[in-house]
This record gives sequence, C-alpha cells and structure tokens, in this order.
Amino acid sequence: MGNKYPELIINHESIKYNASIVNKWCEEHGITFVGVVKGFNGELSVCKDYIECGAKVLASSRLWQLKNIREAGLKGLDGNDIPLMMIRIPMLTEIDELVQIADYSLVSEEATINALNEAASRHGKKHKVIIMHDVGDLREGIFEQDKVLELCVKVENEYEFLELSGIGTNLGCTGTVIADEKNMGQLAELAMRIEDAIGRKLEFVSGGATTSLPLVIAGKMPSKINMLRIGSAVIDGSNHENLSIYGCKEFAGLKDDCFVLRTEVIEVQYKPSHPIGTLGVDAFKKRKTFIDKGMRTRAIVAAGGQDINSVDDVVINLDGATLEGASGDHTLIDITDCKKKIQIGDFIELKLTYTAVMRITGQRTS
Ligand SMILES: *Cc1c(COP(=O)(O)O)cnc(C)c1O
Repeated sequence: MGNKYPELIINHESIKYNASIVNKWCEEHGITFVGVVKGFNGELSVCKDYIECGAKVLASSRLWQLKNIREAGLKGLDGNDIPLMMIRIPMLTEIDELVQIADYSLVSEEATINALNEAASRHGKKHKVIIMHDVGDLREGIFEQDKVLELCVKVENEYEFLELSGIGTNLGCTGTVIADEKNMGQLAELAMRIEDAIGRKLEFVSGGATTSLPLVIAGKMPSKINMLRIGSAVIDGSNHENLSIYGCKEFAGLKDDCFVLRTEVIEVQYKPSHPIGTLGVDAFKKRKTFIDKGMRTRAIVAAGGQDINSVDDVVINLDGATLEGASGDHTLIDITDCKKKIQIGDFIELKLTYTAVMRITGQRTS
C-alpha cells in the first residue's frame, strides 16, 4: 500500500478529555466506568487513554479485541492486568478461548453458564458473570425478575468455577428505551432481592451504557446502580445527533474531534448543483432529491462510503464548506462559501462519529 490518505488521526488529548469527564460523572455518583472499546476496534493506544482516565475494566463484544489487549499486557492503574469484560452474550464456540482471556461475561442463558463453568474448570480459572435482566429494551436478558433471582442463586451456590459478580441491563439499543428512574429502580430493587437471597453484596449492578449517563448526570440514578459500560459518550458524545437524542446539555461540553479523517482533494470544479438528465438511483441504489443552488464550486476528496460509511456519519472541519454526498470512493464538498482557497492536493478533515469510527478502524486492523 503506497498511499497514505485518507489518514486516520486519533486525537488522544480529546479522547482523554472525554474519558476523564465521563469518569468524573461516574465517580461522583459511585459508579465504576467500564470502558467499551468495540467502537474503535480495541485500538490499543485508545485503550490506554481509557485506563489512564479512570476506566477500571475494558469491555468489548468482540473477543479478538479483548485478546489483543490481553496479549499486549495492558495494566490498570493498580499495576495489575486490566480486567476484561465480554459484553455480548458469549457464543458457545468462543467460550473456551473466552475464559482464558476475559475476566467477566454478561450472560443470560443457563447453557452458556454451564459451558463457562466447564471451560473455566478446564483452565483452572474463576470466571465472573453478570446476569442480564431485560427491563424493556428487548435485546438480551431474562425478562422475568424471579428467573433472574433464581439463576443468580444457582450461580452463587452450584458453580465451582464461576463467581456471581452481579446483574445488569441493556437499554437504548434495539427497543430505543431510555434509562429512567422506573426501569433503573426495577434493576436496583432486583439487586437488593438477590443480595438478600445470597447473603452478600453484589460487586456490580450495571445500569447500561451511554444512554444511562444522562440519568447519572441529573443525579437521578438509584444509588444501587454502581457500574456503566460506556463507549460512545467518549467517542462522539457531543455530536449534534446525540445532543438531541439524549437531551443532555452536559454532553455538549465533550470534544467532537477524537477521531478525524484527513482526506486529499482530487478535484475542484465549478458546476451546476442539480444533476442534469433523467434521475434514477445513486451508487447505493437510493433515490434522491436535489436542491438547485445554481452554479457552485465543488471539491472532491479521495474517500467515500467505503471509508466513512456515509456523509451522515461525518462532520466537516472546514468553515463555510458543506458535505453534498458520497459514493463508495468519492466525497463531494461544496466549497463555494469557504474563505480558505481549496486546491488540488489540499487536505480536508472530516470529524468521525461512532459509525464512521467503527467503519474505518475495523477496516484497518481486523
Ligand atoms: C455496545 C455496548 C455498550 C456500550 O454502548 P455505548 O453506547 O457505546 O456506550 C454497553 N453494553 C453493551 C452490552 C453493549 O453491547
């Protein structure tokens, strides 16, 4: 590969700034910040930023990312290997490797628990499990509270190589449900019932992901919830879509340039803004409408959907410029109103939001 561009720039200062703020929000409310690394393919330098800024555990849904972290020997601030957490319900086929790499798993099935126990026994390890309770988002987790309780008691008493770390839930993923005092209260109450039943405190009661942070910031998270698994608040918490979705004004203070793509200008032409001819579909088989803004000056940069997913997943870092669209390998930028004169060979920066970060980091190293 001779070409250097598009070039991914990782702004460690911005990542550390965001991670520190997230950690502060958590810490002030007695919550452990578990740093979720799947959004940037577990890039080790960013994992280190997370740890430096307070993440006590690193988590991913993809085992190879955790493996990479373990093999790199990343340590927590206490000098021990950083604890690793598998946050997708493990596949039976990955469990043997999983118990050798990760310390924690989120689980919801007895068959998975059995397999984890057997694998942990084979490798002479103790594996910690967090049993997932579905409070309404309808992705993973056991729906009936009594069943969660029953399974927790069983793990506590019957599995020699497992340790019940606690319970957790997931929100805002498939069912779009927001964390509120009601569903978090339900999780907290269930945790207390379990503690009564097993006669000890749980290590973790995990109240979800970034979508649960606004409740923490508002000071309304039940005190029983003591851990969140957070990725996107750090990566792109302040992107304008998140701000409107979460309705959390504090997110606006986070940096939005953690991951930036430097793209090279390959064409600058003066041309109409409305396509000419009979309109069909674009490169992604989508029909489109166009606004006729007359003749405009337009730059093309050598990066497109293959790199950034879609123009909706990036924010242009150039005053006066607007993103007009992208095909697989080209992104069109209207530069008519730019003060800066743009020429062939110049670089234009695109600030990446979560999906674009996931796309570009996945493409580089997986
Ligand atoms: C992805 C994921 C998270 C992190 O979500 P963010 O929105 O990035 O904070 C937490 N928990 C689970 C189970 C996940 O799959």
